[in-house]
Amino acid sequence: MISWNIHCDTNCSLCSAALETREHLFFKYDFSLNVWRQILKILKIQRQVYSCDQEIMIAAQMCGKKEVVAQIYGMCFTEFLYAIWLERNARRFQHKEKDWMQVYREILDRVSCRATEAQRLLLIM
Ligand SMILES: [Zn+2]
Repeated sequence: MISWNIHCDTNCSLCSAALETREHLFFKYDFSLNVWRQILKILKIQRQVYSCDQEIMIAAQMCGKKEVVAQIYGMCFTEFLYAIWLERNARRFQHKEKDWMQVYREILDRVSCRATEAQRLLLIM
């Protein structure tokens, strides 16, 4: 929006302490980092959180695979992005705030509801 000369608040809606870029919002700010780290942990994926572009590339590769873990990864990644965006909008427009663990649990609930029995087993084992 800034590149189109549309006036808007450029501060991060989650922390108000940085420029609100997709990199910061989804993969650099502690709130989002904690949520994504916890998701990787439950999927038993041991690695650091990478840059936004790298995370998107990994998710795209996973979504092209047929393994159950890859399917659940894609679902978690999609729900993660959506949940962070909802939290961003709730804070910006409704002045409502959740903690990261609550957002994480809501992501798992939504993924569990959509998952098959085989996919759900990955989340609870
Ligand atoms: Zn921030």
